[in-house]
Amino acid sequence: MRQRPFLALVALVVGAAVVIASPGAAADSGLDPEALRRAAELRDSAHAGSGAYELLRSLTVEAAPRFAGTPGDRAGVEWGLATMRRLGFDEVRAEPVTVPRWVRGDEAGWILDPSLRSVVLAALGGSVGTPDPDLTAEVVAVVDLDELEALPAAAVAGKIVFFTRRMERTREGSGYRPTARARGAGPSAAAAKGAVGMLMRSAGTSTNRIAHTGATRYEEDVPRIPAAALSHPDADVLEARLAMGDPVRFRLRLTSRYLAAAPSANVIGEVRGRERPDEVVLLGCHLDSWDLGEGAQDDGAGCAIVIEAARRIGQLPVRPRRTVRVVLFANEEFGLSGARAYGAAHAADIGNHAIGAESDLGSGRVWQVSSKVASEALPVVDAIATVLAPLGIERGDNEARGGADLRPMRAAGMPVLSLRQDATKYFDVHHTVNDTLAQVDREELDQNVAAYVAAAYLAAEAAADFGPLPPEAGP
Ligand SMILES: [Zn+2]
Repeated sequence: MRQRPFLALVALVVGAAVVIASPGAAADSGLDPEALRRAAELRDSAHAGSGAYELLRSLTVEAAPRFAGTPGDRAGVEWGLATMRRLGFDEVRAEPVTVPRWVRGDEAGWILDPSLRSVVLAALGGSVGTPDPDLTAEVVAVVDLDELEALPAAAVAGKIVFFTRRMERTREGSGYRPTARARGAGPSAAAAKGAVGMLMRSAGTSTNRIAHTGATRYEEDVPRIPAAALSHPDADVLEARLAMGDPVRFRLRLTSRYLAAAPSANVIGEVRGRERPDEVVLLGCHLDSWDLGEGAQDDGAGCAIVIEAARRIGQLPVRPRRTVRVVLFANEEFGLSGARAYGAAHAADIGNHAIGAESDLGSGRVWQVSSKVASEALPVVDAIATVLAPLGIERGDNEARGGADLRPMRAAGMPVLSLRQDATKYFDVHHTVNDTLAQVDREELDQNVAAYVAAAYLAAEAAADFGPLPPEAGP
């Protein structure tokens, strides 16, 4: 993977000559035609067939699931280190991260009225367990947090609050956040009105009898009540029984609990740049997963995509100017521990992070490239969009947020690129037992690698700076 200095020199001379000879769009971006041609080659060779699927297969066989603090999480860290070393990355290391440790335990639930029905449910991540042996209470249904807010405490006290909002299926994944809001804030909002338990319709789109987990957040000053999500068919029945008019009781059994915090790590692999090795193009994903399923889509796919993209850049005869750094973040799902640790460990060198991009929406095709960069760098993003266009990718705006793991660095002023993926099918499997390799389409995965390898190469090769951006207020 070592670059050849002679070829690098030739390419530099040729590149400089071409830029002078042909001003225009390429010159606006500062990218010479040779760089654009090489990016197109990287795009096409990855799209024709990459190693990402085999990487993902080995991850899901050797280390899955990878929930924070578990042996699977540690196996994932070992997999990341061993894989990037085997693939010839220049520098591979682990940066320690401490993660909270929650155990799901056993989970079960029954609708009791007017007749007994066992349901499929999943405890929300971080939920306390139910009292021994079970929690039994009458159910009160609300659509969402706003409807709960409008109810008098007397209508809620002593009951189990059931959030019924149904997630809408869209390409943008825009239905997720409004539905998942109740997952995060619902238990404490219900407990504040005296509720003893919380149920919700799964924040996913599968109509199969599987339930969707995800983190909940308890407020400090209200009792912590147990909380779980029902599969859609079971939520349908509970709603229908409530609509019959008589009181409906529910019995919930969760043995979830917390253990002591545990060690994990961000795993980092680098392909060193030829000219400005200290400047970094960060390609991120998160290595942890929920404890259900294999974490193949969330976010094994993202890790396979960025590792394979960086590996291909490392094999070029002439490296791009900047370093391409892959970061497999620890524990995104249960508190963003890895992102926070990375932001703290690299607070002094955030200015060296030229730009970042994170893949964290499974293997759905990339359909848009958006950015958050200084306005002078927009011609470079335009050039990237031009190279990505044959993959069916359109140019988005300059208001990208980047992925969840990039938040601390983005807030500190790091520019971001966002390769937005088609989320139409993603929430059928996301955070469920069905998040397995069997749900991943090899060709879609390769389209992602093609987009990432071309975009990362051009970002690392561009002479222009993407920032700095002013730091953002708040977290
Ligand atoms: Zn994720």
